[in-house]
Amino acid sequence: MDRLSDIENLLKEKNYKLTFSRREILKCFLVEENHMRAEDIYFIVKKEGISLPTVYRNIEVLKDNNIISEISINGDRFFELKAFSKKRVHFHFKCKNCKKIIEYYDIDLVVNLIDIKNEIEKRYNNNVDNIDIVFEGTCEDCGEN
Ligand SMILES: [Zn+2]
Ligand SMILES: [Zn+2]
Repeated sequence: MDRLSDIENLLKEKNYKLTFSRREILKCFLVEENHMRAEDIYFIVKKEGISLPTVYRNIEVLKDNNIISEISINGDRFFELKAFSKKRVHFHFKCKNCKKIIEYYDIDLVVNLIDIKNEIEKRYNNNVDNIDIVFEGTCEDCGEN
């Protein structure tokens, strides 16, 4: 399976092209499947002659088209692959000490979250299409034993 061509088709449906810059930026997400800031992506793609403003601009395009999603942590904007991601629905935990981001995939936690989502939609008649919850604190490695 070539996820890049799947993403290319997705973009095409919305009249966007998979330009050289977008392809290089997406490759970062496909290789790492990680949370990256625009600056982290720029650090990788600058070798290809791609500028930081180009990274910012294309991140917005990819985000608007639901290919990547944004997580804000303490004013830092992180991005991760959303479309064709191998990852399931998950929560994030950020350690305020070592800055590491941990992901929780526990099915019972996710089920609870889906219950909350359903309840919000029922109670307020809103339509939830993205959930962004970040827990913050001290991780196991940084805390006292
Ligand atoms: Zn830590
Ligand atoms: Zn994540």
